[in-house]
Amino acid sequence: MNYSLEILRNCTFCVELSANRTNVVVGDGAIDNPKVVFVGEAPGKNEDIQSKPFVGRSGQVLRQVLDALGYSKDDYYITNVVKCRPPKNRDPKLEEAKNCFPYLKLQLEAMTPEVICSLGTHATKYLISNGDFENISKRSISASRGNLIDIKLGDKEYKLFPTYHPAATIYNRSLRDTFVADLKKLKEIYQPI
Ligand code: SF4
Repeated sequence: MNYSLEILRNCTFCVELSANRTNVVVGDGAIDNPKVVFVGEAPGKNEDIQSKPFVGRSGQVLRQVLDALGYSKDDYYITNVVKCRPPKNRDPKLEEAKNCFPYLKLQLEAMTPEVICSLGTHATKYLISNGDFENISKRSISASRGNLIDIKLGDKEYKLFPTYHPAATIYNRSLRDTFVADLKKLKEIYQPI
């Protein structure tokens, strides 16, 4: 398969996802050298309709926390590993994540963020495994979160900072507190006081 950001909006590499989507959800935010790129798993229903990532309930949580912590909208970009909504919001299949991962690599190469913040187990395991889908990490999100981890995608090196997916924090106060503390720490990493 040939990958380029030009063909992304018309991509049909995943037959089921491309047949059922309304839009390819490429990403949202500062594309010119953002300090942080947030990476979730896949778009949901609202994201598919609006062609924008993280605009549903969990997106509201993420964006509210970023605003409350003083993140400038010029500092970050938000995207997902899988750019098309899985039908009925099922988990993306490994094959779909593998198909779509090269687009994320191209986006990261173009933006060269200081830090990649993976949101949740799935985005974290693909990134922490350096995009090696034959050897996916089994490390839990709770063991990885809140720390900077060196990763390498192709010949590019990045700093990865995993944290929980905001959806996991909606009904869990303790996870929400940890999520907020992680994003506070992340801001201090890229923007020391
Ligand atoms: S999920 Fe990614 S690889 Fe699959 S059809 Fe959509 S854009 Fe293409």
